[in-house]
Amino acid sequence: MRASLQLARAGLSVCVLSKVFPTRSHTVAAQGGIGASLGNMSPDNWEWHFYDTIKGSDWLGDQDAIEFMCREAPNAVYELEHMGMPFDRNADGTIYQRPFGGHTANHGEKPVQRACAAADRTGHALLHTLYQQNVAAKTQFFVEWMALDLTRDADGDVLGVTALEMETGDVYILEGKTTLFATGGAGRIFAASTNAFINTGDGLGMAARSGIALQDMEFWQFHPTGVAGAGVLITEGVRGEGGILRNSNGERFMERYAPTLKDLAPRDFVSRSMGQEIIEGRGVGPNKDHILLDLSHIGAETITKRLPSIREIALRFANVDCIKEPIPVVPTIHYQMGGIPTNINGQVVGTAKGHEEVVNGFYAVGECSCVSVHGANRLGTNSLLDLVVFGRAAGNHIVKHVKDMKEHKPLPADAADFALSRLDKLDKSSSGEYTQVIAGDIRSTMQKHAGVFRTQKLMDEGVKELEQLKERVGHVHLKDKSSVFNTARVEALELANMIEVARATMVSAQARQESRGAHAPGDYPHRDDENWLRHTLWFSEGDCLDYKPVHMQPLTVDTVPPKPRTF
Ligand SMILES: Cc1cc2nc3c(=O)[nH]c(=O)nc-3n(C[C@H](O)[C@H](O)[C@H](O)COP(=O)(O)OP(=O)(O)OC[C@H]3O[C@@H](n4cnc5c(N)ncnc54)[C@H](O)[C@@H]3O)c2cc1C
Repeated sequence: MRASLQLARAGLSVCVLSKVFPTRSHTVAAQGGIGASLGNMSPDNWEWHFYDTIKGSDWLGDQDAIEFMCREAPNAVYELEHMGMPFDRNADGTIYQRPFGGHTANHGEKPVQRACAAADRTGHALLHTLYQQNVAAKTQFFVEWMALDLTRDADGDVLGVTALEMETGDVYILEGKTTLFATGGAGRIFAASTNAFINTGDGLGMAARSGIALQDMEFWQFHPTGVAGAGVLITEGVRGEGGILRNSNGERFMERYAPTLKDLAPRDFVSRSMGQEIIEGRGVGPNKDHILLDLSHIGAETITKRLPSIREIALRFANVDCIKEPIPVVPTIHYQMGGIPTNINGQVVGTAKGHEEVVNGFYAVGECSCVSVHGANRLGTNSLLDLVVFGRAAGNHIVKHVKDMKEHKPLPADAADFALSRLDKLDKSSSGEYTQVIAGDIRSTMQKHAGVFRTQKLMDEGVKELEQLKERVGHVHLKDKSSVFNTARVEALELANMIEVARATMVSAQARQESRGAHAPGDYPHRDDENWLRHTLWFSEGDCLDYKPVHMQPLTVDTVPPKPRTF
């Protein structure tokens, strides 16, 4: 919506397709904040943010893209403020900012207050602000339309998508001079997830099926604090406001693992430390399988003012009142660092004969893309920032270049054939398995074989299991063949995207023989910059892998060279 706003304001004809009403996109669930070095509450500058993001990424992030994002951040936030986004305020009227994991002053000295927040409903505020601005600018919304496949011509240029109107079951070809994916993440390929049910990686599936590689898919973030047993997120903002993780002895164990940042170390670090406590028998509960998040010392006033939804989530999903009692939490899948490779204009880049080449007419922004600012591990608050900074940049790039395109390229005669044949197969199915059985098996395979702690053996087995699951996805039985609002058909189509993302993840992970960021196989406990300081590219056809260099050169400042990561 940040990109479409640029287009609509420039007077272009723009249509936004969404599986759900736009304000129900997963962004609505974002709680903690959006990162920008405003320095409203403690001294800060964009270079510290830049440094923290590179270190957080375990040096896999592209330093040119990270510089662009961190420099643009304050402007992007002020722009939202001027659009009317209801941020919390300090007494002097400036935007309220809280500390967040991995965000520090002066290159790791101490936590800094950088997360601009609207209570614990920042994403809600952001999404509604952008929706309203789009309505005012006359963006057209096609609500409850599901894109099925990309249309590419013989030159490989993207000319639009085929899409299913859920209300009628009709399929359309949508033709555009440019197509931009902002289709979000795929956290629902795992069994325990903080993600919405619609996060099935459709954009990644469509790109992969059309021959575009997916980048760095082995890197999945486990958020340290999902409600144990339920998966619902408890924002890192809770620890930003002073919350503490404790093991079964009541010990604040993060002091041992990260003496400086403690509970506010980056997420990969905290999740593994929690996992270690559980493995060593200091987990909490009858099965010793979770950790406690204690905020009872923060006080009722701060909790009710700054974290009202967290109190409600804890009450409803864990049956505890966090003003008095700790919340049971466990690391839960949260965010995909990888995605469709793009440059800083949001243009999708493929690789041809060893060099990067733009895919004409195709852009990607947000969690479905990999620009790559998050590398091997994202810092909290940097995703909402990624959306608005690169959404705006992509919008500007489209506005500038679409004017030179006098007319649409001709559609190939077979533009809809691929999508129609996939639908036809479902509609003709008379036997086979149900979607949800196969989806459930994908989720448990991913959870077991690509979790917080990975081993070569687990990943090798995982690849084999997914080969069988891919076979099974090809034989789904769609029992209900009706047209109007047939959610069973939609779920069967989502399954075809989930399996692409799952294979991309497992095959990319199996090959990477080092520990970096969120990817930590026990067989290779160390980071290996000599062999693995490079991005993975996975191609669906034949499960092929390729690699490309990390952009170590920022735009205007000096490279931050790789160092050991301690907090
Ligand atoms: C619980 C939770 C809390 C979070 N908190 C924070 C936070 O505090 N700060 C932060 O920076 N990040 C946070 N994140 C991460 C961040 O919210 C997400 O990465 C980000 O919002 C993703 O935005 P997006 O625009 O890429 O995708 P989404 O917001 O997921 O939107 C995807 C859109 O694409 C549409 N779509 C998908 N497939 C199709 C299809 N086939 N056809 C048509 N439309 C389709 C969907 O309908 C939806 O409208 C959080 C994530 C979660 C899950």
